[in-house]
This record gives sequence, structure tokens and C-alpha cells, in this order.
Amino acid sequence: MINIKNLHKSFGKNNVLKGVDLTVSSGEVVVIIGPSGSGKSTFLRCLNLLEEPTDGTIEFEGKNLLSKETNINHLRQKMGMVFQNFNLFPLKTVLENLTISPIKVKGIEKKAAETNALALLEQVGLQDKAQSYPSKLSGGQQQRVAIARALAMDPDVMLFDEPTSALDPEMVGEVLSVMKNLADNGMTMVIVTHEMGFAKEVADRVIFMDEGIIQEQGSSKEVFEAPKNARTKDFLGKVL
Ligand code: ADP
Ligand code: MG
Repeated sequence: MINIKNLHKSFGKNNVLKGVDLTVSSGEVVVIIGPSGSGKSTFLRCLNLLEEPTDGTIEFEGKNLLSKETNINHLRQKMGMVFQNFNLFPLKTVLENLTISPIKVKGIEKKAAETNALALLEQVGLQDKAQSYPSKLSGGQQQRVAIARALAMDPDVMLFDEPTSALDPEMVGEVLSVMKNLADNGMTMVIVTHEMGFAKEVADRVIFMDEGIIQEQGSSKEVFEAPKNARTKDFLGKVL
């Protein structure tokens, strides 16, 4: 589904990504771990072109994302993104948060968009919050709405950038549980997280990123139980 080769990204003289290669298959759950500042967010942002790569190629569903002929907006709709800070539209109700893009961007009828939105809210356990405003919800509820909002565009892959890092500890579980359900239902996912227990449990593949490259990757058993790279060992020693 995704095929990334030799991805580079610099901000001025700061070479953040220094040649990342990664393939993601349909239905696969890839979890990216690594120290702060190692380029994880930049990598995810390059994937859906929130940042423009300096070099390299990204193929998504057989199309070169970086070619001028590619309709980037269309491909981007196929990638749902969930951020650390929810980024909900504060002046819109939960229901409106979920329906605005399907209606405006995809041209879906309001009624159909609402029916779909309510089903997604049920999936994340928030059907009773459809008419609430984001500010009335807890952080965990807001993040579940953000996940439902991304799903409302019917994406082929979901990208998560530390979706639980801004949450109070008691709300982490409810968000991870929604993500685990998605994974169990076959969603293709690329997840940056510091939740090592979750990574171990749901990852088909764990990527350890440091200094702008993939230092090590493997099954969660391989990376967590028998890391080979000295940097991976050092990092896991600090976080586990
Ligand atoms: P991580 O998500 O692993 O913590 P980031 O991808 O956020 O790492 O950041 C990696 C490096 O890229 C950092 O040195 C950061 O300062 C730099 N960086 C990220 N985004 C920008 C930006 N928009 N402009 C300039 N530098 C950036
Ligand atoms: Mg980050």
C-alpha cells in the first residue's frame, strides 16, 4: 500500500530524515518508536505531504505521491491523520466535526454523512455526544472524536502521531482500546507512540527510529525482546 524509498527531509541545515525506506502492506499495523527529536513526526507528516520531502520517493496505492501529475488532495483523503492535540473544530458540534469534510470535500449528502457519522460515534462509544461541543468533552473523548472524524473520510490508512501523549493517564486506555479495535478490524495503521505495552500488543512490525533513520525493525517480539542495535537497547532500557 505504501512504499517509501530513501526519504530525506531537511529544515535548512537540519537534516532530519536521512534516508528512510519503508513499505507498509494493506492491513498491517506498523508502530514507530524512538526518542524525541528523532524525526518520527516529520516522517508521518511527509507521508501525507504536510511536509514536502527533500528527496526520495513515496508510492501510495501504486501512485507516486511526489509526481506533479498526481492528484494529491484525492490521495490525502485516503489517509486519515490523528494528532497529539486532537485538532477538532472548536466551534462545531461533534456531529459537524464528523460531517463537514465528507459533505464539503467528498460531496456526500448531509443525511448520509450524518448517518455514517452516528455509526462511527457509536464505534468509538460516543453516540450520546453528537450534539456536544469539543470543549465540553474530556481529552480522551475528544481524541476518540478525532479518530471518528478521520474515519468519516473512509481512509485506506490511518496515521497516528502520539495520539495519547496529551492525555491524562486515566484516559489513555479508552483511546488505545478504540485503536486496537481498528487494528483488529483490519485497518492499515502507522502509529507513532510511547505506549510500549500497546506497541507490543498490536504491532505487526515495530520500527525504531533515531537520528533520522530506521535503526532497527522487526516483529514486536524481535524488537522488544531481542533488540540487536545498541541504540535500540539503550532506548528500551530507558522506557521499559
Ligand atoms: P519527533 O517527532 O521524533 O520528536 P520531529 O520530527 O518532531 O521529531 O523533529 C525532528 C527534528 O526536526 C527536530 O530537530 C525539530 O526541531 C525539527 N523540525 C520539525 N519540524 C520542523 C519545522 N517545521 N521547521 C523546522 N524544524 C523542524
Ligand atoms: Mg513527534
